[in-house]
Amino acid sequence: MAPTATSASRSLETIASPYRLDLPQATPEAFQSVLEALTDRFLAQAEQELGEFIDARLALGAASGAEDERSRGEYAVELLTFGILREEYAHLAGQTPPALRERMRQLWAIRRDEPDQKATADAERAQIFQSLLQAPLQDFIQPCQDPILVDWLEATGEFGQEALRMRHWLDGVGVFWSAEEFRVATWNLARWFESAAHQDLSEWTQGVEAFRTRALAQLQPREDLFLITRHERLYHLNMVGAEAMNRGFRPGFLQRPRKVVLVPGCMRSRDDRACMALRRGTDISCAHCDRTCNVSRLTELGEEKGFKVYVVPHASSFTAWLERWKEDGQTALVAAACPLHLVPGGYEMRALGLQAQCVFLRYSGCKRHWDPNGTPTEIDTDRLLELLSQT
Ligand code: SF4
Repeated sequence: MAPTATSASRSLETIASPYRLDLPQATPEAFQSVLEALTDRFLAQAEQELGEFIDARLALGAASGAEDERSRGEYAVELLTFGILREEYAHLAGQTPPALRERMRQLWAIRRDEPDQKATADAERAQIFQSLLQAPLQDFIQPCQDPILVDWLEATGEFGQEALRMRHWLDGVGVFWSAEEFRVATWNLARWFESAAHQDLSEWTQGVEAFRTRALAQLQPREDLFLITRHERLYHLNMVGAEAMNRGFRPGFLQRPRKVVLVPGCMRSRDDRACMALRRGTDISCAHCDRTCNVSRLTELGEEKGFKVYVVPHASSFTAWLERWKEDGQTALVAAACPLHLVPGGYEMRALGLQAQCVFLRYSGCKRHWDPNGTPTEIDTDRLLELLSQT
């Protein structure tokens, strides 16, 4: 018999956060230092193995004039994203019938554009995601071709930003490289990375496999199934990706005099109804209704150090919130989030011409995805102050 929602919630209560940066034996400082060293190695490996692809991609971008130039490291992250998402989802995408892929795309568009239909669309998406993950992978099905993979990723609604970046690389097929050359090169990079990152970072992501295995075993119809079942390599991709993107964004971030820190709603000590935060348009600022709340403390630190803090209630509000800063050439942002949202968030900020840095939540604790009881999340304020410093 399928577990009820209540029994599923009860069993999820025992699951720790998939990742934690605040371990007694492996502190956030140790994490940051290991992450920086691994990112150095990754960037060197990408340059050595795929430097010519990055040269060509820069030439393509310059010729089209369609986007601001990104750092070479950011393009390396895109190549890694391609390799890892292919490895993770190409078989599943290959056995998804085209009509179902199209339905997923329609549902995502309904969810995005018709707020009154969101719940209905999400319910159907949840059923589809459950059926996709339930179906055993068929041995005879080949991984799909890259254009189909990118379509499928976009249709899930979970990888929209990644898919947008991946499409640009498809433009180089038949111009700068063959599909096979691109597949082999990105596959090699992903394999190198998976092994190196597992060795260096798995201490902090040791909860991922247990969390993912439980979620897959319960396999409730949930619209966030492709978020909560992600493999450890996707956490590592986002961790190293976030560090590489921070480096790429750094010069532009330093040029802007005003700094704003965006924190997720899950950092609050109280839920949406009880939180007394003040709303002005999309700006949500703390009213200090609970002095022990992590957002209240951070807001006070901001008053002392000269930065503002705003709450973004959920990742789905992120785009609307970012739009608000598009015209402000004086302000740079620091976004706090759990790792899985940081690289797509970085892609989105680049697309909007924003300047930003990102900082990891120490663990994931929001009720909606990770912890049925909800545990207020926190960030490493030393790391935040380091990012905010003008060096
Ligand atoms: S202290 Fe601030 S952020 Fe925390 S619950 Fe109260 S108003 Fe909301």
